[in-house]
Amino acid sequence: MVRVRFAPSPTGYLHVGGARTALYNWLFARHNNGTFILRIEDTDRTRYVPGSVEDIMESLKWLGLEWDEGPYFQSKRIELYRKYAHELLQRGMAYKCFCSEERLQKLREEQRKMGLKPGYDRKCRNLTPEEVKKLEESGKPYVIRLKIPLEGETSFDDYLHGKITVKNKELEDLILLKSDGYPTYHLANVVDDHLMGITHVMRADEWIPSTPYHVIMYKAFGWEPPIFVHLPVILAPDGKGKLSKRHGAVSVLEFRKMGFLPEALVNFLALLGWSPGGDREIVSLNEMIELFDLKKVGKRGSVFDFNKLYWMNSVYIRMKNDEELYNLVLPFYEREGLIEDKSHRDLVKKLIPLYKERVKTLEDFPKMSYYFFRDDFEYDEEGIKKNFSSTEIFNYLEKVVEKLESAESFTHEDIEKMIRGVAEELGIKARVIIHPIRVALTGKTVGPGLFELMEVLGKEKCIERIKKAIETFRGQKP
Ligand code: GLU
Repeated sequence: MVRVRFAPSPTGYLHVGGARTALYNWLFARHNNGTFILRIEDTDRTRYVPGSVEDIMESLKWLGLEWDEGPYFQSKRIELYRKYAHELLQRGMAYKCFCSEERLQKLREEQRKMGLKPGYDRKCRNLTPEEVKKLEESGKPYVIRLKIPLEGETSFDDYLHGKITVKNKELEDLILLKSDGYPTYHLANVVDDHLMGITHVMRADEWIPSTPYHVIMYKAFGWEPPIFVHLPVILAPDGKGKLSKRHGAVSVLEFRKMGFLPEALVNFLALLGWSPGGDREIVSLNEMIELFDLKKVGKRGSVFDFNKLYWMNSVYIRMKNDEELYNLVLPFYEREGLIEDKSHRDLVKKLIPLYKERVKTLEDFPKMSYYFFRDDFEYDEEGIKKNFSSTEIFNYLEKVVEKLESAESFTHEDIEKMIRGVAEELGIKARVIIHPIRVALTGKTVGPGLFELMEVLGKEKCIERIKKAIETFRGQKP
């Protein structure tokens, strides 16, 4: 029975890298009818960032990665870790270390000076029971350290990377329990993975150097280690180094704020390191569950390609029907302060089919259709230069206004007929007036079909804006 966990530390928002780790665990659990556990590793209070647990859980829920068990909070299990640290003491696999912070500091400095790797010199490893007793009685604080075998090697089989071996000489006697009685990440992580019956530990490959320590701990406890699967990092768009904040958005909820659909982000993240076979890019969640296979996860990092994510999002937006999209985009219009009454909501409904094919994010909807709600839009400079430089254009536009004023029906078919009719009367090509009309109505040179746009904008507004453009730009040297 597969049991996997996502075990974030609440040190900030959920990064897309963490989200991908969660996703792979979730997919693996779903594919195998297993259990996906959420465990919050919050024993390091100095690194705790308020609000991050909420951010992490909200991000997972939004992505649709519901957990079957948990969240377990390690901070509520401190007693347990103490008990296990003491068990290792009893087994002779760990020892109490009374060295003061100052001594350790000095030691590190000396080691650095001598060009040695800084690390604990195992001074307390050989204290006699009497010495330990005396020190304890004197009230000296201590930590509990793991006894690393002094000789030999430690290896484990990583599912993606194969056999990884380190010489025990390279390892140090790491701290399991701190002097304040709090466990380190290593102790709490191993104890929980064991107690929670985790079968596969799937995590970022930055944890590879910690794994030999974990393997030694499993042995010391006499436990069977899980299968380790270390996932490659997500690389920055330039392929150099890890994706980080300076490359753009990295937090899951930031992507939500920008108007990405969770389905698109999940699809995109799934393919960062895993391939369902062939060159398929759009894969539904159900298909992912069916096809997910750890054997097809690469061990090299994949590049986070923002353009691809935008493209994928536009595909998922187009897959929604208008009703669904309306519900999704309305909050984005509200956020921009564009919704004051029912007429605005009705307007949004009409705008969905006009923009659906043109947007890349939900946020694009209000951005691109602002001029339907407000008259204070700006005119594109190039657009003015290109369309309002001749004197005749204003005469043409006057003619258009005249026709619009006498129009009885204002469907896009009729508007098209009318405008083409004006062009014919004037003996010009339709596009000679179509582009200037667009700029007059929207300030932009591109957008949805002009006639559809005019129908939604309505007769009054169309006339008003064309008149305003004539007034503003006539005789003006652009
Ligand atoms: N708490 C660790 C982290 O934040 C978990 C690593 C692991 O999955 O073992 O990445």
